[in-house]
Amino acid sequence: MSQIRLLSVDFDGTLVRNWAPPPFPGELVDLLNQLRRNGVLLAINTGRTIRLVEEALGITGFPVRPDFALTSEREVFRWNGSAWEDFGGWNARCREEHDTLFRSCGPLLEQIEQHLAPTTARLYYDENRFSGVVSTTNAEMDEICRFIETKRHEFSDFGYQRNSIYLRFCHAAYHKGAALGELQRLTAISSEETFAAGDNFNDLPMLNLACARFLACPSNALEEVRAAVSDQGGFVASEDSGFGVCEALRHYIPSLA
Ligand SMILES: [Mg+2]
Repeated sequence: MSQIRLLSVDFDGTLVRNWAPPPFPGELVDLLNQLRRNGVLLAINTGRTIRLVEEALGITGFPVRPDFALTSEREVFRWNGSAWEDFGGWNARCREEHDTLFRSCGPLLEQIEQHLAPTTARLYYDENRFSGVVSTTNAEMDEICRFIETKRHEFSDFGYQRNSIYLRFCHAAYHKGAALGELQRLTAISSEETFAAGDNFNDLPMLNLACARFLACPSNALEEVRAAVSDQGGFVASEDSGFGVCEALRHYIPSLA
């Protein structure tokens, strides 16, 4: 059908939208089902946790059960037919590396906490660990990112993933591209056989020719994302979210019915 064997697709704003009904077009379900009948694997590559992936599938009524969920911009799960399970040893290593990271970045995290305390940004804590920030506006998050950039130099392993007003701290080696790379290694599917689509900052690490030969973004993608996709010869759709993903799939796979 084509050389594409793996789809790595962001969920919110890419497969589904929340700003206008319907959340996704019926055509998207048809196309994904056609591809999967032909052996193409589907990975949702998202900033959501695995629990919130399940919740989103339920709330949106998205009827296609993904083969894989790459979650929190770093973990790799496989659907075993009845439940999500760790795929290989990646998630355990990921957790260990993050435990080490957060132990070593205490002074940086304290500076960020103090900087944000008088602001309207909401800090969030995961297992008592200061893990991220939700701002009230995009401009406020721009400022927060600028602040972190001025402070992070001594902490080379410290990174973060931004999705509009949401920010999650992470080890710099972990992002959607790294999670996709591990999935490709485990499934023996190459970047040459991979399609990737996303709409926000946290998608940029996978919207890279080193990760996927077939790049796409919907029309609602951030300007930075549209530029990255277009500069690499990828497909910038004229329609938004799942409607745009349909366009992209038809662009790359003309044999789709
Ligand atoms: Mg998104």
